[in-house]
Amino acid sequence: MGRAKLLLLAAILCSFVGVTGWITWHYDQAYTLATRHTQLSAWALAQLELELHEFESAVDYYRNGRLDQERLNEAYDLAWNRLDVFLTGKEAKTIRQRFGAETLLHELFYQLQQYEPLITSPHLKPQDLEPLHQMLESMLPKVRNLMVLNFTGPSAMRENAALEQSKAQNFVILGCLLLLGLVMVVLLLLEARRQHFLIWHDALTRLPNRAAFIQRLRQQCAHQQQVVLCLLDLNRFKEVNDSLGHSAGDQLLLKVADKLRQSLPEGVWLARIGSDEFALLMSGQKSEASWFAYSKRVRTGLERLLYRADPAHRVSVSVGVSQYPQPATNADELLLFADLALLHARQDGQQHYRIFNRPMLNQYQRRRRLVTDLRAQLALGAQSQLFLCYQPQIPRQPAGRLGAEILIRWQHPELGFIPPPEIVDAAEENGMGATLAAWIFQSMNRDLDSFPLPLVRQLDLAINLSTSLFHRGLPEQTLNWLSDGPLLPRQLVYELTETIALDDLALSQRVFAELRRNGIRIALDDFGTGWSSFAYLKDLKFDKLKIDKSFIQKMDSDARQALFVQAITELCHRLDICVVAEGVETELELSEVLRLAVDEIQGYYFARPLPAATFCQFAERQLQQPVWHP
Ligand code: C2E
Ligand code: CA
Ligand code: CA
Repeated sequence: MGRAKLLLLAAILCSFVGVTGWITWHYDQAYTLATRHTQLSAWALAQLELELHEFESAVDYYRNGRLDQERLNEAYDLAWNRLDVFLTGKEAKTIRQRFGAETLLHELFYQLQQYEPLITSPHLKPQDLEPLHQMLESMLPKVRNLMVLNFTGPSAMRENAALEQSKAQNFVILGCLLLLGLVMVVLLLLEARRQHFLIWHDALTRLPNRAAFIQRLRQQCAHQQQVVLCLLDLNRFKEVNDSLGHSAGDQLLLKVADKLRQSLPEGVWLARIGSDEFALLMSGQKSEASWFAYSKRVRTGLERLLYRADPAHRVSVSVGVSQYPQPATNADELLLFADLALLHARQDGQQHYRIFNRPMLNQYQRRRRLVTDLRAQLALGAQSQLFLCYQPQIPRQPAGRLGAEILIRWQHPELGFIPPPEIVDAAEENGMGATLAAWIFQSMNRDLDSFPLPLVRQLDLAINLSTSLFHRGLPEQTLNWLSDGPLLPRQLVYELTETIALDDLALSQRVFAELRRNGIRIALDDFGTGWSSFAYLKDLKFDKLKIDKSFIQKMDSDARQALFVQAITELCHRLDICVVAEGVETELELSEVLRLAVDEIQGYYFARPLPAATFCQFAERQLQQPVWHP
């Protein structure tokens, strides 16, 4: 929990306690005020009763001749005044309204008023006061009774008890409120602790997470003499999630985390830094070599665990290791170098274990340079260092249409010739797939604009499709790209390898159908190099199939290859699919593929990939006078 939030929570708590305290204090004040009010009322009533008694005594004394008239008048005035105060005073209001006090005292007041002329008369005789004496004698017990009823009687006690009870209840309620507030605060603090844990830990394995790892890595590089970083990655873990569900994937991750935890020696710190990636930070007295040996053992142990835990044996472990202060000179480099080693370990089909070395960094820097330069070159259009080559595809039948495969070329001024798959991968991995495709179509359109139109009309051109282009919008986009040049949709062939994973078969079939409705043909490229060529052939409708050069080139030495080519050619012809033999380099290979009746031939025997102008001349020559006759 952040400092600001903690302060806010403290403020809320203080306000809560403050408000509760204030309510209690306020209630207590009100209670005291109420009781004081009762006391005041009691005092007023008691004073009244006292003065009335005084007056009664004065009347008595006067009758017996023991008091003069002046003193009697004084007692009368006092009693009269008291009555007036009681009947009009604010503090006596409550008590006036109870037990018929107001009526009784009004009556008494009225009666006393009647005697005023008599009492103040200079002719007052003692026996004249007899009726007044009797009246007082009958009224005063009633006034006394008022006292009893109000302050000592059962109702007064009931009231007092109710007041006390309400006070006690209120304190209990406030106590409960305070307790609830405290519970709330405790819950909040617990939640804050949980949130704090999750900022630095992974919820599933409860291991430190990537943020904690980065922090620790920096600390260790700042304070330790030597740090070895080992990154562990589960290859093909996604397949477990996809095929067995996420809970099975979670279980597997928990087993891996437990296994790693169990074998942690002193000086090793473990974290989960990605969905299927773990890190071991090693430091201390041991030598680098012993940490390398340790990380190798960890990998072997995990391999065994995964072999048992994953029945299909899909998941394996790759490990990349690097060290600080050499070759990495800071924490960021250490992470980068270990990552590069991991990348190489993943690509190493045998060992899956690599320690960082300089060539890995050179390769990485070359790739980064390539990506930057490619982005710049693609923005240059016609001025780009990139250009297209056209490799002829010769029809077996002289009447067949001449084709060409478009292949990208880049002669980098410093890095030299860049293999096309590297260009394509760099574009794909860095979100430039569509830009590259747009550039290829623009360049093709420009090249074809320089060809005579009748020649263009006699050609079919094949473009290789990269992964990111294969989506719902491809057919419409293709028509857009073609609309700027002379090539018609029916002259275009898309070449597609099985590495373009067609996850959604229904969608792929729809895209294929839409392309073909527009006249665009589709070829299955590099047939026979992967595992799922036949599945592709079964599920999707292709117009062409290109048998990979690896089959063609071994055909003369390996009879089984020839059989394979023959069988696939026959199958394709039955399915009405045109067969292209790729990589035909020698006359022997040519005669073999012709014997097996393939429909088109592409290879160095006829021509290498040619720059546009050279291809234009080649095509004109070829169309006028085909270079060969079967
Ligand atoms: P691919 O589609 O199988 O292209 C055929 C490759 O075989 C080309 O290599 C071509 O030069 C080579 N080749 C043709 N005939 C022969 C032969 O007789 N002998 C030998 N040894 N090789 C021959 P390249 O141009 O280096 O292209 C390699 C791969 O790069 C292509 O394989 C294709 O997958 C990819 N690629 C090339 N250009 C593009 C492009 O513009 N877009 C996409 N997406 N991929 C491209
Ligand atoms: Ca191709
Ligand atoms: Ca190919």
